Amino acid sequence: TVRTRIAPSPTGFLHLGTARVALFSWAFARHHGGSFVLRIEDTDVARSTQAAVDSIIEAMHWLELDHDEGPYYQMQRLERYAEVVQQMLAAGTAYHCYCSPQELDEMREAQRAAGLKPRYDGRWRPEAGKTLPAVPAGVRPVVRFRNPLGGQVAWDDMIKGPISFSNEELDDLIIMRPAPDGASDIPTYNFCVVVDDIDMRITHVIRGDDHVNNTPRQINIMRALGAPLPVFGHAPMILGPDGEKLSKRHGAVSAIQYRDEGYLPEGMLNYLARLGWSHGDEELFTREQMVSWFDGSHLAKSPAQWDPAKLRWVNAHHLKLADNARLAGLVAQQMERLGLAAGVAVDERLAARCGLFKDRCATTVELAGWLAMYYAEVTPTPEDLAQHVGDAVRPALATLADALQALPAWDAASISAAIKTTIAQHGLKMPQLAVPVRVLVCGRAQTPSVDAVLALFDRAIVLERLRR
Ligand code: GLU
Repeated sequence: TVRTRIAPSPTGFLHLGTARVALFSWAFARHHGGSFVLRIEDTDVARSTQAAVDSIIEAMHWLELDHDEGPYYQMQRLERYAEVVQQMLAAGTAYHCYCSPQELDEMREAQRAAGLKPRYDGRWRPEAGKTLPAVPAGVRPVVRFRNPLGGQVAWDDMIKGPISFSNEELDDLIIMRPAPDGASDIPTYNFCVVVDDIDMRITHVIRGDDHVNNTPRQINIMRALGAPLPVFGHAPMILGPDGEKLSKRHGAVSAIQYRDEGYLPEGMLNYLARLGWSHGDEELFTREQMVSWFDGSHLAKSPAQWDPAKLRWVNAHHLKLADNARLAGLVAQQMERLGLAAGVAVDERLAARCGLFKDRCATTVELAGWLAMYYAEVTPTPEDLAQHVGDAVRPALATLADALQALPAWDAASISAAIKTTIAQHGLKMPQLAVPVRVLVCGRAQTPSVDAVLALFDRAIVLERLRR
């Protein structure tokens, strides 16, 4: 069965690039009825924080990228890495190296001086018939992987196609270092990834192509451990609109920030999926459709460009489809967060208001901006007042207020009838009354159908704003 994973390093929030490979890994597992594993790569103790772990899990939860196993923490698996190192030392696929940092510096300098690319020269690598240097007293060794000397490491990347490296480009990687304080030894990044991917029986490793150079090293270690190789897929980076790697200066790069900016998780996922994957001409799809289509094919080899306008367009589509009661909860939070209104009740009226206005919005932030008219005072602009609410229309506004006050029922049909009667009495055309009503009650000259908009207000508020 298919087993995929996402393995974030908890040194910050969930980056959009990581969210996208998480989405690919999750969708691929779901498509095949497999499992999706969450692994926290926290061996960089100095830079890893619990706050980052929490924010990554929060972002995954928001996007509903649910994991079947984990989170596993690498720092809780140190004994396991030590055990594998011992096995490799016993098997001769790893060895101790006692070079001091100073010795390594000298080695590199000599190589550079000779016009060579600096690399470990294998002085502690045991070979038949070779005499190793004498073990220096008081030095705690590192453990190095015995990388094959010749030949190629090749794999058929599920995204990039065939890739190969020559073993001559790879030196004997350090897999374990002594801790400076004499505490337990510290396994290195590429080694932990390999042990974890083997132990967690990962069948497909989908990650950013910034890891392509790690893959041949990891493959060699997997082979040395006699483990079957997973399929590797390296997704190209996401680029900013200027063609540079997407970064903070292009706007938000934290997935969760888009929640705060009013995007829906399904809009975000739809957009992220299309950044580097396609299914025919489909641009808009549900999470379920994506899972049913995501078989690992049609992943793009070339980098995709972040396009905020398209994200808005995709999100607007999902906002229209979203359940109004759900939107009510989100919009109430946005109104609080943005300080537009406080103590907003999440009720059927708010849901109806969301239903009426959502078609003209791309995000819940915009929707909250529109719906603030129902929860807080509105202030028509002097321009709107001057242009639309002149003296000529005042008698009609007074008539309308009285007619609305007298209505036996407060609903769109009754309100519409009152407006029609009023314009007939005053010899006006619909916009001549409807626009001033909008300006006074809603604080804006344009809204959806005025009777529907008014019906969702308390009658008293409408009368008060009209008479003022
Ligand atoms: N921890 C790595 C990162 O955050 C992921 C490595 C991997 O997926 O193998 O980029």
